[in-house]
Amino acid sequence: MSRGKQVEAGPAVVIIGGGIAGLCAARELVVAGLHVTVLESSAVFGGSVASHELAGLTLDAGAESFSTRSDTVPALARELGLGNLIRTPNGAGAWLYLRSAESGSTAVPLPQSGILGIPADVRDPALPGLIGRAASLRAGLDRALPLGNLLNQDQLSLGAVVRARMGPEVLKRLVAPVVGGVLSADPDDLDVDAAAPGLRAMMRKHGSLGAAVGAMRKAAPAGTAVAGLEGGMHQLASALSQRLERDGAVLRASERVQRVQRTANGWTVTTRTGAMQTDAVVVATDGPTAVDLLTPTVPGLADDRPAVVPAVALVSLVVDVPELDAAPRGTGVLVARDAPGMRAKALTHATVKWLWLAERAGPGSHVLRLSFGRGAVDDEAAQQPDADLYLAALQDASALLGVEITQADVVDWDVVRWTNALPHATLGHRDRVARIRAAAAAEPGLELTGAWLAGTGLVAVIDNARDRGAALARRLLVDR
Ligand SMILES: Cc1cc2nc3c(=O)[nH]c(=O)nc-3n(C[C@H](O)[C@H](O)[C@H](O)COP(=O)(O)OP(=O)(O)OC[C@H]3O[C@@H](n4cnc5c(N)ncnc54)[C@H](O)[C@@H]3O)c2cc1C
Repeated sequence: MSRGKQVEAGPAVVIIGGGIAGLCAARELVVAGLHVTVLESSAVFGGSVASHELAGLTLDAGAESFSTRSDTVPALARELGLGNLIRTPNGAGAWLYLRSAESGSTAVPLPQSGILGIPADVRDPALPGLIGRAASLRAGLDRALPLGNLLNQDQLSLGAVVRARMGPEVLKRLVAPVVGGVLSADPDDLDVDAAAPGLRAMMRKHGSLGAAVGAMRKAAPAGTAVAGLEGGMHQLASALSQRLERDGAVLRASERVQRVQRTANGWTVTTRTGAMQTDAVVVATDGPTAVDLLTPTVPGLADDRPAVVPAVALVSLVVDVPELDAAPRGTGVLVARDAPGMRAKALTHATVKWLWLAERAGPGSHVLRLSFGRGAVDDEAAQQPDADLYLAALQDASALLGVEITQADVVDWDVVRWTNALPHATLGHRDRVARIRAAAAAEPGLELTGAWLAGTGLVAVIDNARDRGAALARRLLVDR
C-alpha cells in the first residue's frame, strides 16, 4: 500500500472505519484541506447506515430515521444535496404487545405523550387498560412521592428511576418494550443520564418523573420526534462517500486494519495489503475493535475495553397482503419481554410508516421488518439460523398484526445481522469514556469517535464525529 500522503505538502490522516462517524470526521478533515484516507473493513461504506435490495426495492438495512431534536442530520443532508428528501413518518404511532390475564396477549396503542415509554400523565385514563388498575394507582404515586436521593446518586439506571417513581409494572409493560425495541437494551442496564439526557434535571425542576417527561415533550420541536429520507437513510452514507471522493479523499473498502502503531514521526497503519505511514489517525470503529487496535500503543485502554454487544438480527419481509393496507397496528409494534410465544422484540410496518415506500411498493404490497435479540448476553433469539428466523418472523408478524401471513404471501425476504452496532450506555460507561478520552488525548495525532463513545443514534454520532474531525484538523494545521 502507498503512503497516506498523496501530495508532498500537508498533513495526512488515516481514518479507520468508514461508518457514518468515520465519514463525517473525514469530511471535516477534507474541508480543512488535509489528505484523508478512509479504510473500511467491509465492502461498502456507511456501517450501520446501510441498504439492501428486496423485491426490487432498495431498503434501509440499519438506521431508517433520525431524531429531529436538533438540526444535525437535516444540516448534513442539505450539505449533501439531500435536503429536499426529508420526510416525516406517518403520525399513526406504534402499538404495544403485552401479556394479558384474559386472552394471553393483547395489542394496544402506545401512549404518544411519553419518552421511552414513560407516560407523561399518570392520570391518563388509558393507563389502567395498559397496566391494570392497581399498577395505575401505584404509578400515580409519582405525583406525591418525594424525590428523595434519586437526583443525587452518581450512577443510576433508567429502570431504577422508573421503578422508584411509577412502579414495576410501568417499567415492565411500557418502558422495557420501548427501550428493548428501540435501543436493544434492558432499562436496568442503562445509565438514566445517557438514555434520557436532561431527565433528572427536569425532575428536579418539576418535582416528578411524569411532569419531567411532559415538560421535555413540550420543549421538543413541534411535529414528530423523528424524520427520514425519501429513498432511505442509506443515501446519507453514499452521498457522503461520493462527496469525499470528489473532494480528494481516498476511500478504500475491504481493508480491515490489523495494527496501529505510534512511530517517531506519526503512525503506521497496517492492513492485509500493506502498511502506510501517516501523520494522524482517527479510530472510528466499534469499541472493542478500537481498544484492541490501540492497546499496543496506549496500554491503559485495555482495562476499559467495552463488552462485545450481542447480535441483533433483522428479518425483512416483502409480502402481498392487501389486508395490511388498513395499517392494523399503526407504524409497528413493540413487544413486552413476557408476551407469551413471541420471539421478535419489535416489528416496523415500513410501508405504513413511510408514505414514499408505500407508493414504491404499490397497493397490497407491504414491507415488514422484525427485530430479534434484546441485547442481553443470554438472549438466543438472534442466534438462530436464517431459515428458522424467517419462520419465526412469519408467525410473530401474523400475531402482532392480527393478520395471517403465510409463506405463500412472501415475495422476498432476508436476514441482516448486526454485531456491536448498538452499544449500550451502561452504568459506568460515562466514566469509562472519560478515561479513554483522557488516555487518547495524551497521544499526538490520535482521535477517537463512533457510537460507542458518542452514544447511539445518528445525531450524537454525527455531532461527535464532526467535532472530533474539526478538532484534529485544527491541531494538525496549527502544529505545522
Ligand atoms: C439495525 C440498526 C438500526 C438503527 N436505527 C437507527 C435509527 O433509525 N436512527 C438512528 O439515529 N440511529 C439508528 N441506529 C444507530 C446508528 O445507525 C449508529 O449509532 C451509527 O450509524 C453508528 O455509526 P458509527 O460510524 O459509529 O459505527 P458503525 O456504523 O458501526 O461503523 C463502524 C465501521 O467501522 C468498520 N470497522 C470495524 N473494524 C474495522 C477495522 N479493523 N478496520 C477498518 N474498518 C473497521 C465497520 O465495518 C463499520 O463500517 C441503528 C443501528 C442499527 C444497527
